[in-house]
Amino acid sequence: MAKVVHKFGGSSLSSAERYQAVAKIILEQCQLGDSVVVSAAGKTTNTLVKLWQSFEQQDVRAFNDVLLQVENHQRELIDALFTGDRHAALLKQLVNELQALAQAREARTLHYASLLAHGELWSARVLANYLSSQGIEARDIDARKLFVQQDGVLLHALNKEVCYSAIGDNAVHIVTGFIAADSQGETVTLGRNGSDYSATLLANYIDATQVSIWTDTTGVFSTDPRKVSSAIKYAKVCRSQAELLARLGNPVLHAKTLSPLKGTDIKLQVRSSFDSDALGTEIVKAGYSKEKRFITTFGQLDLLRVEKLNSGEVKQLSQLIQHSIHHFIKGGEAHLLVPSEFSHLVINALEPRANIIESQVQGFAVVAPSQDIAGLHLQALELLDDNAIVTRFVLQAQNYSLVLTDQSIDSDVLAVLHERLVNKGRELAVIVAGVGNVGEVFIEQCKDQFDKLSEHFDLKLVGLLRSKQMLFCPSGLNLAQWQQQWQNEAIEYNEAELFTRIKELDYEHKVIIDITASERFSALYPQFVEHDCHLISANKYAGTAKHSWYTQLRQKLQERNLLWRYNTSVGAGLPVNFALADLQNSGDEIVRIEGVFSGTLSWLCSRYDGSEAFSELVLGAQALGFTEPDPREDLSGRDMQRKLLILARELGIELELDEIELEPLMPDNLAQGSWLQFLENRQQLDDFYAEHDAKARENDAVLRYTGALEIANNGHVCAKVGIAHVPNGAAIANLTPGDNIFVIHTKWYEQNPLVIQGPGAGKEVTAAGIHSDLFWLTQNLK
Ligand code: ADP
Ligand code: ASP
Ligand code: MG
Repeated sequence: MAKVVHKFGGSSLSSAERYQAVAKIILEQCQLGDSVVVSAAGKTTNTLVKLWQSFEQQDVRAFNDVLLQVENHQRELIDALFTGDRHAALLKQLVNELQALAQAREARTLHYASLLAHGELWSARVLANYLSSQGIEARDIDARKLFVQQDGVLLHALNKEVCYSAIGDNAVHIVTGFIAADSQGETVTLGRNGSDYSATLLANYIDATQVSIWTDTTGVFSTDPRKVSSAIKYAKVCRSQAELLARLGNPVLHAKTLSPLKGTDIKLQVRSSFDSDALGTEIVKAGYSKEKRFITTFGQLDLLRVEKLNSGEVKQLSQLIQHSIHHFIKGGEAHLLVPSEFSHLVINALEPRANIIESQVQGFAVVAPSQDIAGLHLQALELLDDNAIVTRFVLQAQNYSLVLTDQSIDSDVLAVLHERLVNKGRELAVIVAGVGNVGEVFIEQCKDQFDKLSEHFDLKLVGLLRSKQMLFCPSGLNLAQWQQQWQNEAIEYNEAELFTRIKELDYEHKVIIDITASERFSALYPQFVEHDCHLISANKYAGTAKHSWYTQLRQKLQERNLLWRYNTSVGAGLPVNFALADLQNSGDEIVRIEGVFSGTLSWLCSRYDGSEAFSELVLGAQALGFTEPDPREDLSGRDMQRKLLILARELGIELELDEIELEPLMPDNLAQGSWLQFLENRQQLDDFYAEHDAKARENDAVLRYTGALEIANNGHVCAKVGIAHVPNGAAIANLTPGDNIFVIHTKWYEQNPLVIQGPGAGKEVTAAGIHSDLFWLTQNLK
């Protein structure tokens, strides 16, 4: 049976709620026979290191304080997660262990690795018990029984045998990360952050198919997303770059994590336990992903120069200090980058071969494809100069550039470095859904537009979707021959396949451009967001969906730093949303928006002069392709109702579609039944229209079909779509047939409103409006 290994880091187990979230993920994603490797909860290992330090310093008071801190944290978890016998048994076990630690302090028999092991032992026990209490067959396993090493070398053949028999098919195995045993049975650790390594080791031993590292970010980013919000999440990262990042001390993956995967087909992914729906980052073999750009920062380090470094020595030293040590050769001499707190240990161990050449330095490394390094290295140095940061040491290696500075690289400087060194030359994959009238024009316009945007972005049209067929070309379709490619290569449309293809796209950014009018397609938006796609829609359904769904979508987009534009869903290319956003951003208040937002109804009402029956006009418009296939869609007013809702939400108003009063431009009974029945009874429509028209004329006005949104001083909102009598001379009365008009009354445009008028439909203007959204997207991804 295919087995999977999951690993949850300390950040995923920092509170009782996090344990519950992890249990939920296990319930959803694990099968009996899978393994779950856990780290110590939250920062427990750090606390245990403190406990050890106070033990070494023989500071009894500090020891007891820290021990109490450890106890409180564990008690809190147990109290929140358990009741009854299980609660009592777990507490008793904990108290016994803490007592044993206190006694070992007194007897001075405390052992460093065994002390640190408690963190992982507690996590595994708590999680296994919690899962059991939820009815999941779970068993905790102490990894010291699985991973044995001799003289610092893991006994792979033996371990494999032991793991094979210990990991059966009848339970989910909760395995302690980080710890192992030596051949005498003494506890050893695999180094700080080593649980990632435990997970891949176990996967290798039991021939698992996949390892998922669950952490608190949704994957591997171009830089720490906690420091730079515009950090780019990469869908794929190649093993060599991930390994280099880890060797440079980046915490997202531990340095040794990848070694057990060499020569295997075991898949590795990084995912977020805080957002388990989100697509993670896949760490792939060489050749399966493009090389990316990263910046990783350093904590406080000492730079050591070493005479004659022997092979295997770095490994021994990093085992000694429990930390990865980056080493490199410069000017023919070996250098080590060691966390300052441990450099005395390293210097002692290498005595007299090592010297500190720079102490207490910080800085960063840029990891990038080798052809980019020289340029990035120079740019990085210039940027530091501009920011008055003094460099103490620099190294330009083949696939990274290293800069050590005398002060830390804070988030602001990191953001600038990221913006200039990583954010340039990015790729944006464009997927167009709906290749009808507008879609075709949009694609035709792509070539010129993509060229224009190419200075900052490399845009590629990678997918075309229609209701029955789709075409994917991950390296980008040939824009001069896309129609031919469509004819020769399009395959049957299939939703599951669509998401598989999107998942496989190895681009920094992806955007779905929805030019369909399909409600069903808009229902897929949350899934697109889970697949890290930005959205641009001409489709009105998502923007007018139920408010709860709509806000959830917006929230998800925000959480993932994704953008959504749907300007053309109202007024096609007319810059209505820009105007509304601008007014609001500059302190104005919108009081009322009214207008005609349907090209079809604009055309019908403006053309009607009584010389021809209204239904004749409707049929004429239908023949000219100005209406929906069934023109009652237009006459119902629902389309305008949706547009008014989009405008309202653009103003931040919480409104549902059916809260907008709707008065159709036809008698109610005609709305029902078939199109043929409608045709038979069209006289009723003519009478209806003529009657309303006559009333308007009596009042020196004209009949128009309008939408109006009014926001009272007290915030009360009144929204209505229906028949209006518009005084002759008003802007709405004199509308060019087919045009849309938006009359915006604000605090500043009070007497004399702001009017935006022009064609609100048509393939060229709509396609251009979508390009305007795409341009906006590229500007805002900067
Ligand atoms: P865990 O407890 O799950 O092992 P770690 O704290 O060891 O998690 O590692 C995850 C942290 O790594 C994130 O919270 C993030 O702040 C940091 N980090 C630094 N660089 C990156 C990066 N390039 N991509 C993702 N996370 C990063
Ligand atoms: N708990 C250990 C540490 O904090 C191992 C790990 O988290 O992977 O270093
Ligand atoms: Mg970690």
